[in-house]
Amino acid sequence: MTAKNKITVKRNAQPKEKPATDQLAFGTVFTDHMFVMDYTEGTGWHDARIVPYEPFMLDPAAIVLHYGQTVFEGLKAYVTDDKEVVLFRPDENMKRLNRSNERLCMPNFDEELMLDALKELVSLDKEWIPDREGTSLYIRPFIFATQPYLGVAPSKTYRLMIILSPVGAYYKEGMNPVKIAVESEFVRAAVGGTGSAKTAGNYAGAMKAQEVAEAAGYSQVLWLDAKEHKYIEEVGAMNVFFKINGEVITPSLNGSILEGITRKSVIELLQSWGFPVTERKVSIQEIFDANAAGTLEEAFGTGTAAVISPMGELSWGDEKCEINGNQIGELSLKLYETITGIQTGRVEDPFNWVVKVD
Ligand SMILES: *Cc1c(COP(=O)(O)O)cnc(C)c1O
Repeated sequence: MTAKNKITVKRNAQPKEKPATDQLAFGTVFTDHMFVMDYTEGTGWHDARIVPYEPFMLDPAAIVLHYGQTVFEGLKAYVTDDKEVVLFRPDENMKRLNRSNERLCMPNFDEELMLDALKELVSLDKEWIPDREGTSLYIRPFIFATQPYLGVAPSKTYRLMIILSPVGAYYKEGMNPVKIAVESEFVRAAVGGTGSAKTAGNYAGAMKAQEVAEAAGYSQVLWLDAKEHKYIEEVGAMNVFFKINGEVITPSLNGSILEGITRKSVIELLQSWGFPVTERKVSIQEIFDANAAGTLEEAFGTGTAAVISPMGELSWGDEKCEINGNQIGELSLKLYETITGIQTGRVEDPFNWVVKVD
């Protein structure tokens, strides 16, 4: 029996009206179906099914509601210029979801079965994938602890779900460099903590810093390390890159940084172009020094939502630094165009990153 045969499908008898593709925001509208699978200790994962999208019941004592035992992923499906439906490196998301599971004491799942489930769900709801430039279908797999129990311990039961949401272009008015506040008070994650897992608590804990930065007119915060508040970790929920004196530098994975698939793709692309990339510790002082010396050429964040997000200005205490005259850097643009080009079939995919959904 192939993994696919284990997934039952119950079609939605009342499909919803699809939103206009020029009205799409992020994560507000959901498609007609969802994937669900349950886990019970002793039995393992069971009842893999695609069913109509709908709310569900959860016991008020469910562990996830009290102790946050939950993990998630985020990826996108695109329609190429040839009208094919494709995913970008979905196997990487499944691997990472299992790594997050591991960190949160949650049970691993069969990655092959999940890839099949993902493809089948996207295929069933493919009419929902917007085809306007920059739009896509955002895919949100997530797993949470369902056992009703107020003791602090790993749950004996879990639910895994995949929901889909058509999303608008990240850059509605074209790509623009953003203003970033260097965060010296709050931290996102500490080495030894859960920063390298995509788990809810990291995001809940990051909201206060984002709220304060936004109120002061910045779009995101640049996170520093939890111990010394010196070394750069990430920007918002993105990984971060700097181009200094012709060399691209990104903070090395230290245990508190989330290992982005866009980060990995950027590194692999740059290496294939023969461009020097270094993964190492990067201090915020080094960035301000490079800027003062005129060698800071570009700075950008990387993540599934934006792909590449150029930084135009950094504010650190009383100091400010403007990067590349607040203009999009040449390399940032080339990376953006290449990755989005591969995703939409406009640029050749020498790495086999793109996976077709039939
Ligand atoms: C998801 C995420 C990223 C980016 O990962 P991608 O796989 O590139 O989307 C970076 N940092 C944090 C904290 C994240 O949650």
